[in-house]
Amino acid sequence: MICVDCSVREEKVVFLVLKKAGVKVKYGQYEGYFRADLWECPMCGCQVIAGFGDAEVFDPDARVDYDFSEKEAEGKAVAAR
Ligand SMILES: [Zn+2]
Repeated sequence: MICVDCSVREEKVVFLVLKKAGVKVKYGQYEGYFRADLWECPMCGCQVIAGFGDAEVFDPDARVDYDFSEKEAEGKAVAAR
């Protein structure tokens, strides 16, 4: 993955680097979580979660790295970072 902003600014390609493999992410209305990888731009620090490969891991009580769940009671997504 290439950071567009940094690559344009630096006039050379800037690749994101793998920050952490196997982060646990909840999102939407899933009760379980998904494993993915966290990538980061070494220059601007923007972060991307990509590489969702596995099926949902159904464990509603699991601690996750990022929680973007849409909870009806709260009415908004919450980021765990
Ligand atoms: Zn960047």
